[in-house]
Amino acid sequence: MEEAEKLSCQLPDVGVLNLGSGQGQHENTNQSETKIALRVDEEGNEDSAPATEELSTSKYSHPVYRELSILNGKINKLNVAQLKSHLRERNLDTSGKKLVLQKRLKSHVCQQKLKESGKEDETASHRNLYYDYYLVIDFEATCDEHQNPTTYRHEIIEFPAQLVSTKKGQIINHFHSYVRPLINPRLTNFCTNLTGITQDKVNFAPTFPEVLKQFEAWLEDRGLTSSETKMTVLTDGPWDMGRFLYQQCSISGVPYPSWGKQWINIRKSFCNFHKTKKMCLKDMLNHLGMRFQGQPHSGLDDSKNIARVAIRLLKDGANLRINEKINIRKDGSYNPRERVVNNITRHNFEGIKRKKRLVANNTNSNSSPDESNLENVSDSDCDDSKNEESEPLWPDTQDVKEFPDLVNANVMKEI
Ligand code: AMP
Ligand code: MG
Repeated sequence: MEEAEKLSCQLPDVGVLNLGSGQGQHENTNQSETKIALRVDEEGNEDSAPATEELSTSKYSHPVYRELSILNGKINKLNVAQLKSHLRERNLDTSGKKLVLQKRLKSHVCQQKLKESGKEDETASHRNLYYDYYLVIDFEATCDEHQNPTTYRHEIIEFPAQLVSTKKGQIINHFHSYVRPLINPRLTNFCTNLTGITQDKVNFAPTFPEVLKQFEAWLEDRGLTSSETKMTVLTDGPWDMGRFLYQQCSISGVPYPSWGKQWINIRKSFCNFHKTKKMCLKDMLNHLGMRFQGQPHSGLDDSKNIARVAIRLLKDGANLRINEKINIRKDGSYNPRERVVNNITRHNFEGIKRKKRLVANNTNSNSSPDESNLENVSDSDCDDSKNEESEPLWPDTQDVKEFPDLVNANVMKEI
């Protein structure tokens, strides 16, 4: 299904009622006229409404869903100026292309109508809110100028996480700790200048295994590890989980945590939704008419800003689902380039489906239900594979030989 057709409310559109404003309507839409246009005609339009039988047997049998589907149909017929006018009336953002404006308005109208009808609890399932929470993580790691690629053994030095409630559309809690590196205990000037993290901050910080324990206790205390809670990690790009966390777990000799095995790469979701080329965090914010708040490359500030982008996409009705995962094999074989599904094309999508069937046949209960979400990832995901090829996620095979501990630790300790 085209992204444009995936309505933020997931309701059937039922064609058009008489809008009272033809297609050729003047750009300066009269406000009262547009208000009327978004009120459902009490009599409805028998021709365009879905068959009563169809609605009464569906999960949308409450009259509010009929009203919403009619409104969706109307919104589909609005031109850009009319959409902006409606958004303005509701104090909503008016930036973005037509499809984004449509989704934003539908998403808002959907929430409002369900709330008015006392069906607030159902807003989540009708707004594509598959997850209750996003855990936005943005690690900072030891680094040096010119040492970023391939062979450099990054250690995490800042571990921040923002807990976003999808229903509330806001950050509701956060975790934060600096981490003391052991391989390169002295931070380079480059690293301090980049991240704002001083030597003192890491000198007095706990080591990674301790921080990981604290973090997991924090998750547990909030019921986030419960199987009933739908939570997923959300990051800006593939590096946080696919590189920093993996490397750090290997260096520290701790198992790679199950909560980090799959995640939403917000850049992919963003470019899929906005039909843009790959963007950095600052570009995404700019594109949304927002500004970076705080200091770039501070993990805490980065994670807050990533959360702001995610919340905004969510409010605009974007379908934020897992789009990357790390795959650590149990048989000892190791091809670092296969770890992350970087870019899902129709070709590898078929491969994923085949693998899923194999996993299911092997009755591996670890196959997360979230993998089924991959079916929702279209091959129109922006292609950032080129970019990642120039900055490989992992050392190539030759480099791997130089770091046997890094390779073995995770293979042996795979959960
Ligand atoms: P970021 O989330 O963009 O702040 O980056 C996370 C980590 O990637 C940083 O803590 C550094 O370890 C590394 N990094 C980011 N940008 C650079 C850069 N220009 N040169 C070297 N390392 C970098
Ligand atoms: Mg950062």
